[in-house]
Amino acid sequence: MKTIGILALQGDFDAHRKAVERAGGRPVEVRTAKDLDACDGLIVPGGESTTMLKLLDIENLTEPLRQFAARKPVFGTCAGAILLAHSVTKPAQPSLNLIDIDVERNAYGRQIDSRITRVQAGDDELEAVFIRAPKILRVGSGGKILATCDGDPVWVEQGRHMVTTFHPELTQDSRVHQRFLEKLTT
Ligand code: GLN
Repeated sequence: MKTIGILALQGDFDAHRKAVERAGGRPVEVRTAKDLDACDGLIVPGGESTTMLKLLDIENLTEPLRQFAARKPVFGTCAGAILLAHSVTKPAQPSLNLIDIDVERNAYGRQIDSRITRVQAGDDELEAVFIRAPKILRVGSGGKILATCDGDPVWVEQGRHMVTTFHPELTQDSRVHQRFLEKLTT
């Protein structure tokens, strides 16, 4: 069984723990660099990306996370996607540049900042929960768009890494977490 680390500094890491179990993986919470040693992949959850960036720094986890990502898959959801992006706007902030996408934070406006909708994933539809979601403005040529919502990419993978701007851990559908688990074996 594959062990999936879930960055547990802030945000909805507990929902990911349950989602990883539903998908057939073994979740472990990651709070220190040493915790990463046991992991085959890592999930960076939703939450507040500015706070998470600061906490990564305070816990001396930024560099270990980069080193981990150079060898193993990382999956970022919502705030996690913002952290993994190449560049971030509104407001601009540093990011880890693990996946070649540009994102704009809180891009869907106050009125519709949180919603449950269906997104198009190839020939399939997927229920998706958006909470103050970022918008993916650009996907680099190496990126593969796995789902869209009203024409915007909302699930992208590039090489070993993957992001969603929605929260697959908040629905019972395990397909997104299963795809991440599959990436661990390749
Ligand atoms: N709006 C948050 C941010 O910019 C992300 C929201 C989320 O992760 N649900 O960090």
